[in-house]
Amino acid sequence: MDYLIKNTVAIASTEFPDARDLRIRGGYITELGNALAPTPEDPETVIDASGCVAWPGLVNTHHHLAQSIMKGVPEGLNQDLGGWLGSVPYRFWPKVTPDLMYHAARLGLFELIRSGTTTCADHHYLYHSTTTPELEEAVWQAAEELGIRMVVCRGSATETGSHEGMIEHKIEPESVDQIIQRLEETRKKHHQTGPDAMKKLVVAPTSLIHSSSPEGLKAQAEWARANGLKMHSHLLEVTFDETQARKKYGQSAIDYAESCGWLGPDVWYAHLVHSDAHAIERLAATQTGISHCPTSNCRLGSGIAPVIRLAEAGAPISLGVDGSASAESGSMLQELNLTWLIHRAQNGPDATTLEQVLEWGSQSGADILGLYNTGSLAVGKAADLVLYDIDKPRFAGVHVPLMSPLMCGEPVHVKNSFIQGTRIVSDGCVAGLDETELTQSVRNSVAALLNGV
Ligand SMILES: [Zn+2]
Repeated sequence: MDYLIKNTVAIASTEFPDARDLRIRGGYITELGNALAPTPEDPETVIDASGCVAWPGLVNTHHHLAQSIMKGVPEGLNQDLGGWLGSVPYRFWPKVTPDLMYHAARLGLFELIRSGTTTCADHHYLYHSTTTPELEEAVWQAAEELGIRMVVCRGSATETGSHEGMIEHKIEPESVDQIIQRLEETRKKHHQTGPDAMKKLVVAPTSLIHSSSPEGLKAQAEWARANGLKMHSHLLEVTFDETQARKKYGQSAIDYAESCGWLGPDVWYAHLVHSDAHAIERLAATQTGISHCPTSNCRLGSGIAPVIRLAEAGAPISLGVDGSASAESGSMLQELNLTWLIHRAQNGPDATTLEQVLEWGSQSGADILGLYNTGSLAVGKAADLVLYDIDKPRFAGVHVPLMSPLMCGEPVHVKNSFIQGTRIVSDGCVAGLDETELTQSVRNSVAALLNGV
């Protein structure tokens, strides 16, 4: 299907900032301009986008979709990361069946799409030695059904390690050989190459410091690079990473990561909240990226990542929602809004600009994921774009309409959304998804999760 989108209030395009119309052919943006005429000889669907602003689809670089059915678990509400991991994700991990994973993934992806997201990187770490492949397949299936661009970051643990939750809940780690064999199976089945792949696989041990061996990390890095795959993990979310790295390996967390081959332009980390000057220097020098997840960092009291200093040093910046067990909104738009605000609280009113934050949430994230031909609205780029309806009282007073979703924050209303030129939201409805059925499925899943815990 080809589209001509006409009469937007504004389009977030640095290539053609004055454009109001946009044409999509064969999944790609072929024209930006004004008063573009329909082409009857080459039929296309004309969409009147009056009252809407067009943005590049947002790119979420860190999620845990399984947690979408673990929101607001009472035991973890007022705990820090270590306590919360034991009370919430690790506690429920052994209970997540492929069926529950499927409904959780549908909910998480629905929430992303509803907030304007077109690409999701999910850090899926529910693997132990006896896990069946269906648990991972449920994630791929949900993504395929909703039409979202999907990056599965394949988590792993080779040791129960220093996170108490894994020991407490008797989660049996995999061997390095098992991890690589399973990675290879997924790579053959799902991974696509190319700058606008719809499905990508990433090598993503869950924690470098707490549940992986140096040999396992080196083996996974070597395998990832031999196969042209990117690498991802958590790092320096709390100071425990730093103290454990010094205790176990006699060096800082960032130096340990580097010694295992885990810094580079093909690596990005969630959080990096406790990066010191040396860590910032190494991250920037190696072009290692960050997925900044401010809502989760606030919710768990972890701190504020030094994103402004990382950006000034030249490190690649992207944004992520993190799992909904510690960021209940599941909204990328909320992450943009909070990123815009929170660094001003810390660094002053000129610390962030609206344009910079949108770039972090779109093109910069796409680049970190290797999806270079997505993430912005320009001729030749894959047509991943969102039409936010701002024809509402709360947006009407804003003097810069293009940025009103970012400034005003949630609730936003995505009227239409496209991924690789396919319309996945039509007049506010996510294609192929019945919200009443989803709500009931999620309620049933929560009940099943609690059963016997
Ligand atoms: Zn995470």
